Amino acid sequence: MPIGLLKGGLIVTSIALFVATAMIYVSQSQQRALMTATIRSSGWVAYQADLEFVKTQSAFATAALVPSGESIDALLLRLEILRSRLPVLYASDEGRILREIVATEAIVKPFESQLDSLIDEVGRVAPSNADAAGRLRGLAERLRPLGQVLQKILKESVAYNQEIFRRERALEQAPGIVPLVLLFLSGATLAVILILQGRRDRVQLAQIVQGKAAIAAMEENLRAVIEATPACMVVVDPRDDSVSFMNGSAAALVSDARDDPAWPRFVRAAREAAAQGQGNRWGMLSMAYARGAGDVVSLRGSFCRVLWEHRPQHLLVLADTTQVRNAELKVMQAAKLATLGEMATALAHELNQPLAVIKMAVANARRHLSGLEGGEPVSAKLDRISAQVDRAKRITDQVRRYGRMPTEQLQPFALRPALELAIGFVAEQYRAAAIRLAIDIDLSNELAVRGEQTMFEQVIVNLLVNARDAFDNRSEAAHPVVRVTARQEGGRALIAVEDNAGGIAPDMLERLFEPFATTKPTEKGTGLGLSLARSVVRDMGGSIRAENAETGARFLVDLPISPSFAERNAA
Ligand code: ADP
Repeated sequence: MPIGLLKGGLIVTSIALFVATAMIYVSQSQQRALMTATIRSSGWVAYQADLEFVKTQSAFATAALVPSGESIDALLLRLEILRSRLPVLYASDEGRILREIVATEAIVKPFESQLDSLIDEVGRVAPSNADAAGRLRGLAERLRPLGQVLQKILKESVAYNQEIFRRERALEQAPGIVPLVLLFLSGATLAVILILQGRRDRVQLAQIVQGKAAIAAMEENLRAVIEATPACMVVVDPRDDSVSFMNGSAAALVSDARDDPAWPRFVRAAREAAAQGQGNRWGMLSMAYARGAGDVVSLRGSFCRVLWEHRPQHLLVLADTTQVRNAELKVMQAAKLATLGEMATALAHELNQPLAVIKMAVANARRHLSGLEGGEPVSAKLDRISAQVDRAKRITDQVRRYGRMPTEQLQPFALRPALELAIGFVAEQYRAAAIRLAIDIDLSNELAVRGEQTMFEQVIVNLLVNARDAFDNRSEAAHPVVRVTARQEGGRALIAVEDNAGGIAPDMLERLFEPFATTKPTEKGTGLGLSLARSVVRDMGGSIRAENAETGARFLVDLPISPSFAERNAA
């Protein structure tokens, strides 16, 4: 049952008990007063009747002593009065009470007719008669039983009155038990109400305190989450476009001072971006924001209306998507490069035929020349043409090999020739860039590793190209050298590519092998080379790592030797 209803019921009950107590008390008091008055009057009626009897007797005595017309008339008057008093003993209000004490009607009524005949007889007594006195005494004697009856009524009435008086006194001394019980009940009811109410208030208070603590903890957690989130969260007051709140990410992006002029610029950009949205409660927005040093940041997120600090305001939640956008651009560029690679492979393939024709034509020309006089200069030119065709053929071969799609099968291949091929591929570039290539390959020709040879060559080419590019920004390196060393150590082949170009930028070192991590300009670097290298080396069961040596970067490739070669070697 709800506590409110219980409380209401108890209050109403308590008031009803109080009213009932008061009414009972008043009505009992009134009744008692009435009863007492009536009972006292009933005693008075009995007394009066008895008094009248005594007066009548004395009138009889007077008339018997001196019989005269006057004394007989006085006696008659007394008898009449006595006669009139008798019905009062049972027919009046007071008489009805007397009737409950003594059976007045039954014992008094017979005397009424006796009195009537007595009155008649007294009326007939002649005062002048000598026996008038005697007759009057005789008549008085007949009235005597009435006197006894009246005496009895009076006595019993008095005894009853005394009993009533005694009880009243007792009642006055002993307080009324019923009102007391009622008062106790109502008091107890009120006490119960107060206890229940107190308990309920305490429970409610505890609940409120608990609720407040939970809300405070939740608020604190939310604030921590908002502060820790990498997304920028800003609350803007639409009345004046002022910033009411910003989290750490937003402060880092724009400014931690709310009155910084950068903020109005930011809010304006967001507003313009939002205006292009749907205009619903939650709007998506995509915006660009130019930071101080011409650094443009791409932001994507949403805005909504919130009740912040009791005012309707706008909440902006934006994520910095600059890196994602750059990555997208890089992926596009990588795709372009892949297409370019395919084209280069096709081109190399197509070039092979004309090169073969030129080679054959040169051989034919040389045959025609043989034996002809003065043909030496032409023959020397043909030799140069042949040499250049061979070189062109080598390049196209390498291009085709480099661009070939890797198979997924792991084949054992000889490590040394693969390394030499990769080195040969970049040798021309190194010559052009005046970078010395120091090669120290301490491996037997048969030493084999397992993997996709073309892909492995790409790994080495990429390391060498990176080393070459590293010199672009290091003009101070007096003698640019890139050292390639390889040696066998137990069941492993260890390859190192080391340069003296100054080393890897410290912030790059940690994310070197992540895709799209690059310090090169967009048109040159993709940031995919090392990530690809790592996956190729991993596929071969090896590992690759980078470190900064004294004068430059050092890349170390650790590969397991092919089991078949290892077994053969052991045998
Ligand atoms: P990309 O060459 O396209 O940038 P890579 O994954 O091959 O991609 O290289 C990632 C980055 O590693 C380079 O942009 C460069 O900053 C750094 N790096 C690689 N090799 C060297 C090196 N030998 N010296 C200095 N930095 C290097």
